Amino acid sequence: MNVYQKAAEIIKNSKVMIITAGAGMGVDSGLPDFRGEKGFWKAYPMYERLGLNFYECANPVHFRKDPELGWGFYGHRLELYRKTEPHRGFYILFEWIKRFNLNYFVVTSNVDGQFQKAGFEEDRIYEVHGSIHFLQCVKPCLNEIWENREKITVDYETMRARNIPRCKYCGDVARPNILMFGDFGWVSERSYNQEKRFESFLEFSYGESAVVIEIGAGTAVPTIRYLSERLENRPNTYVIRINPREYSIFEPHLSIPESGLKALTKIDSLID
Ligand SMILES: [Zn+2]
Repeated sequence: MNVYQKAAEIIKNSKVMIITAGAGMGVDSGLPDFRGEKGFWKAYPMYERLGLNFYECANPVHFRKDPELGWGFYGHRLELYRKTEPHRGFYILFEWIKRFNLNYFVVTSNVDGQFQKAGFEEDRIYEVHGSIHFLQCVKPCLNEIWENREKITVDYETMRARNIPRCKYCGDVARPNILMFGDFGWVSERSYNQEKRFESFLEFSYGESAVVIEIGAGTAVPTIRYLSERLENRPNTYVIRINPREYSIFEPHLSIPESGLKALTKIDSLID
């Protein structure tokens, strides 16, 4: 049996599915994954001219000191994520869940809301770094977040936003409810509640045959990898690591050195 056949067998024999996804999951939908400075500047040539890398752009300081610069980056991403359609891999996963009646949970470091868009249930998703589709106060004046319905326009010559959303409570600048680098002002309550739901899901499903499908989670921001490593040691649990570059994993877990969409499509073709 090759690795794809093994993966198909594991999925068919599972009762529980945990999908863990990193930036690589979005690549097949056409989203940039910001891998390395070159990857980031290829997606955002203007920042190369400004001499700013991903870590510097994804920094909460801009929303206090220069919100037009901060919202230039996030305003562009907001529009990009809103118009991006999840690739077929999302739907393949969701079809397996329905077909095999799997108890499931999604854990993602992505802030793009793509799993919700593909139909996964809101209360079965844990967004470890928050979501671009919610806003919070920059201070924050209150521990509150609200849905992001703003339309941000960005001047792509300067990567500066033309309009800045405001806190609905105090009128100060509003920022995305995303955990950024060196971020002490993130309102974490929504993610914290998602985490609590995920932990009780793990508790209730303990011992049941489970498959963890990890897709496109690298070691640069290793939150998702740590979680997979923790789940590797659960009884009756197999981890399927799908990653074109950082694919190694110990047996009996499976390593598939391939992009998410290609790997899921191949496995799906073997599930009859
Ligand atoms: Zn406020």
